[in-house]
Order: sequence, then structure tokens, then C-alpha cells
Amino acid sequence: MRWLRYLWAAPNTLIGITIGLLLGGRVEWVSGVAEIHGRWIARGLRSMPVPAAAMTLGHVVLGCTIGDLERTRRHERVHVRQYERWGPFFLPAYLGASLVLRLMGRDAYRGNPFEIEAYAVDDPSAVTYPRRGV
Ligand SMILES: [Zn+2]
Repeated sequence: MRWLRYLWAAPNTLIGITIGLLLGGRVEWVSGVAEIHGRWIARGLRSMPVPAAAMTLGHVVLGCTIGDLERTRRHERVHVRQYERWGPFFLPAYLGASLVLRLMGRDAYRGNPFEIEAYAVDDPSAVTYPRRGV
């Protein structure tokens, strides 16, 4: 049933591949995930509202450098699993959670339940809700 998870996440994967290739990224397959990095991807990721070293879209992880992709692999693989569960509903759910948190005056990034789950693999103590503004 592994192919079903790829199919369910495929719309997001296509977005990731399109962005990665349009920005001239270099693709490497790592355990079933396309990791794409490059100079223009780095410029894009660093200029986002929350500057990032890497970002997951389905079964694609966009990263600034190979080192960033290696360093963030465990965290980003949690997001890959989330895309496999939520499929085309992941981005609306993720962005919706961030919007609600922002409207509540909370941290829209670190307070996002999807990020809390991903950061938990980096630091088990991060399972608890982070303090506002941290
Ligand atoms: Zn994350």
C-alpha cells in the first residue's frame, strides 16, 4: 500500500518537484524522498516569513544545501509522514492552524501542531506547547 501514500501526497509532491526544478535545484533520492537543493532554492527558503533551511512538499524536501538536508532530515521526514496522512488537505490544515494561532496571538510556527510533532523528534521536550514568542 506504499504506492497509495505516494498517490495521496502526489499533488503536493508535484508542487515540490515543479518549484525545485524551476529553481534549478539538484535532485537526490534519499530513502524514497526527492531531496532538492540549490542556490535559488536557498534564496527562496531564506526569504520566507519564517526563514527555513528546508521545507517539505509531499515526497519532496527542498533544502538550502546538502548539509541542511542532512541536518533537518528527521524533522522533515515527520512532515513527509504528515503529507502521507493528510494528502491534499495537509497544506490547508497546516496554514489554517497557523492562521488560527496567529489570530489567537500565539506563535503561528512553533505552536502549530504539525511543527510540534516534527520538533518532537529533534527534541523530545518540545512535545509540550512552546512559550509564546520563543
Ligand atoms: Zn517543520
